[in-house]
Amino acid sequence: MTQEDEWKDECFYCDTCNKRFRSPLYDVSKEFERTIFFEDPLLPEVEIIGAETIAGFCSPTCRDKKRDYLLQQEKIRATYPGIGPVEPCSRCGAPVDMTNFHLTYIEMDTTQDWNRTLFGVEVINDPVTLAVVCQKCEPTPRQIKAAIEQDEPDLEPTQPIPNGYTSKKTIAEG
Ligand SMILES: [Zn+2]
Ligand SMILES: [Zn+2]
Repeated sequence: MTQEDEWKDECFYCDTCNKRFRSPLYDVSKEFERTIFFEDPLLPEVEIIGAETIAGFCSPTCRDKKRDYLLQQEKIRATYPGIGPVEPCSRCGAPVDMTNFHLTYIEMDTTQDWNRTLFGVEVINDPVTLAVVCQKCEPTPRQIKAAIEQDEPDLEPTQPIPNGYTSKKTIAEG
């Protein structure tokens, strides 16, 4: 019995080479996010909601091979925007207000511990922002808007959010 047989279906399939693998995972995800700017010296924070992996790869090389194709399917191109306050839309070039929730495409590298269902995922490299999309091209879906309203900090602790999750991460300036 090989190691791969033991995995059964508890593994990823690379979207380029079809290889089965477990860790690390090199992915491309889309999510809605906004940048929250604070007074100096506090670093800006990015708030994320509704993250969804659109492709997973066994290596950075496999991801490199599929990136352009993937983004073409989404009708955008990689523009590697900064954190704002304003960046150009990766589809139409219009300004994107980064302080309001907007669709974002990112690449993440993570190790995956399949024996831990919770907190088994660890980010191993800085995420790369590939593209941002303006509200005219991709309006925030109703369910995400509802989740954002639920997540307002002044309200009571929130219900589980349908089809997504929220998280916060602090990122370096620049
Ligand atoms: Zn691969
Ligand atoms: Zn646009």
